[in-house]
Amino acid sequence: MADSPATPPSDPRRTGAPSHPAPRFRRLVRCENCFKQFDAGDLAVGERFRCLCGALLAVPRSEAQEAPVVRCASCGAPRAAGAVNCTFCEAPFVLGESERNTLCPVCASRLGDRQRFCHNCGTRIAPEAVAGGRSEYSCPSCTPERRLSSRRIPDATAGLGMLECGSCSGIWLGHPTFEALQERARREVAPEPLARAGRPGAKRPKALQKVTYRPCPVCRKLMVRRAFAGSSGVVLDVCGSHGLWFDATELEATLAWIRAGGLSRAEERLAEERKEAARRAAIAKQEIREVEAEPPAEARWFELLGDLAEMVFEAVGRKR
Ligand SMILES: [Zn+2]
Ligand SMILES: [Zn+2]
Ligand SMILES: [Zn+2]
Ligand SMILES: [Zn+2]
Ligand SMILES: [Zn+2]
Repeated sequence: MADSPATPPSDPRRTGAPSHPAPRFRRLVRCENCFKQFDAGDLAVGERFRCLCGALLAVPRSEAQEAPVVRCASCGAPRAAGAVNCTFCEAPFVLGESERNTLCPVCASRLGDRQRFCHNCGTRIAPEAVAGGRSEYSCPSCTPERRLSSRRIPDATAGLGMLECGSCSGIWLGHPTFEALQERARREVAPEPLARAGRPGAKRPKALQKVTYRPCPVCRKLMVRRAFAGSSGVVLDVCGSHGLWFDATELEATLAWIRAGGLSRAEERLAEERKEAARRAAIAKQEIREVEAEPPAEARWFELLGDLAEMVFEAVGRKR
């Protein structure tokens, strides 16, 4: 890979005086963890962002290249030597679009925006979201038309990202991101924990609200409602595979609760409860063992009979 800046010759932002609205340049970046693709056209080379799976991605320094058509741009099938049309979908092996403003996430070939496959390496072109911008994911709380925007979490060390709704201010976090935030909040625990940490959900009378199950923005399956850490008072919407949804102020409240030592206390309580349960189980076992050690009822009855017989014999003997 050449070490020159990755600006393709026709990058509309660099060429002078466009007479008509210049098409947006799309540099696609693929997550090697989950293979989701992102349009990182708004980010600089080397800039980092989070995939929705939590993996940290960087915009690669790769030089755009003009590649020969060796794959079908419509179905990805390989081109037979000299073939004019694809054997599978009959699409012609000439690129339909004169403007090619999309960079293949795998081989950096310049592609037309409507190409479904890279005509060089055969990679399917399917960007999920704009990195650092509006995503294709719908807000779980608002209407499906309301899209979540991605934003980097301020002060996060590893460039953590989140999706938020511009309308209801709800926040979507992937599981690894929420774990990282919890870890950070834990390290920030105040040495003198507040005597009575306010419960995050206290201000909102959740019980009075109608319980609604919301769809996961990624897979659209209804999320489960789960009480966070049991005693936090926060009930979150959770998709086991993708992440968690926080209503407007819930994330801040949850992190504040962790900072105030809430999570540590909840864990201590859990450990205590486990210890207590183990103690009780041990006592119960001991009691069972003691019961087993005692002779069964009929054995005692025979013993009594034996004693009685002895007494009778003794009495008879004395009479003689
Ligand atoms: Zn990923
Ligand atoms: Zn084809
Ligand atoms: Zn390619
Ligand atoms: Zn919303
Ligand atoms: Zn999901």
